[in-house]
Amino acid sequence: MIKINENFLDLQDSYLFSTIAKKVAKFQEEYPDKKVIKLGIGDVTLPLANACVEAMKKAADDLSKKESFMGYGPEQGYDFLREKIVEVDFKSRGIDIEKDEIFVSDGAKCDTGNIVDIFAKNNKVAITDPVYPVYLDTNTMSGRSGKFNSKTGKYENIIYMPCTSENNFEPSFPSEVPDMIYLCLPNNPTGTVLTKEQLAKWVEYAKKNKSIILFDSAYEAFITDPNVPHSIYEIEGAKEVAIEFRSFSKTAGFTGVRCGYTVIPKALKGYTESGEEVTLNKLWNRRQCTKFNGASYITQRGAEAIYTEEGRKQIKENITYYQENAKIIRTGLQEVGFTVYGGVNAPYIWLKLPNGVKSWDFFDKLLNEVAVVGTPGVGFGPSGEGYFRLTAFGSKENTIEAMERIKKINV
Ligand code: PLP
Repeated sequence: MIKINENFLDLQDSYLFSTIAKKVAKFQEEYPDKKVIKLGIGDVTLPLANACVEAMKKAADDLSKKESFMGYGPEQGYDFLREKIVEVDFKSRGIDIEKDEIFVSDGAKCDTGNIVDIFAKNNKVAITDPVYPVYLDTNTMSGRSGKFNSKTGKYENIIYMPCTSENNFEPSFPSEVPDMIYLCLPNNPTGTVLTKEQLAKWVEYAKKNKSIILFDSAYEAFITDPNVPHSIYEIEGAKEVAIEFRSFSKTAGFTGVRCGYTVIPKALKGYTESGEEVTLNKLWNRRQCTKFNGASYITQRGAEAIYTEEGRKQIKENITYYQENAKIIRTGLQEVGFTVYGGVNAPYIWLKLPNGVKSWDFFDKLLNEVAVVGTPGVGFGPSGEGYFRLTAFGSKENTIEAMERIKKINV
């Protein structure tokens, strides 16, 4: 008899985006003439930078030549891309990362999810609350979360670190020391960041406790504040305590193309049950060589073009476009008295609802009264209740119109 991995039964169904879709579909059915503006999506809307498109066309041509037929590529990524990553993303910021510490992949979702493979089941996991759900679900699948308590909305074995306006979205060190600490900065969903000084405290904490920081910087390209680190390795000593996940999705519009990378410094160690040191770079390399055959040649040539002068210019233009949308949302909401967070170093604006209004009630109000769609904060974790996420990934016209509409509602 085939047995299943029963950890999957501990997963909570994610009703968030399906419930949103159902509510929007029902509304459109009732009011087919109303134009619904969606500021809930976390996906890019501008076309891919032309430099990347052209590079991928050329790469497709490369494949048509017998003498240059690529076959399987290196599991860790092609040197041409890894070298650019080292130069531009790290060396230019004074960070010494080597090529064999970079693992190119098909995106940060896979890597942040798959990384749990190399860690023992009895590690204690800490996540911020609210959180990007992949960290939590993948730990549940691999048996680290324990049972879900529907009253608290929390798993018994997960350490939740609330990030709310009360602590200015800076997680506190938990009373129980975690082994694995997930930090996503700039944050999805709150759009908030930590300064170098704040992040340095976490590096020190991880070092002291022999914990690891799993640092997701998928939104790094949106940082505008010079005191906000683009990479955790800007902090001294971080190479001994952190894995960093990067994505080309929001940086360069690669959500559908699929490419990202993970940095595992060779200085980073884990421990066996008996306390023996093991190099995590080696473990991850082994994992990838067994379960992954590399991102496609065409994709990696496209990603390489991000690092050309032309590519960087085009990508910057797209990011600037989204940043302007973020500003429109932020200032628009502030003008009518909302308290807002994020949107300065991130494409997400995190709105604090006044008068104890609940996330889903605000969602319904916004949809039914002004046909604007956002994402209820509680969908990202219990501490997201009373908050609401809007994203800057829409068109400028729609963003302006959505703000005009939101200004009309009474909360
Ligand atoms: N990490 C965070 C925090 C995200 O919000 C997302 C996508 O929304 C990802 C990772 C996924 O990135 P990718 O498209 O590279 O898989």
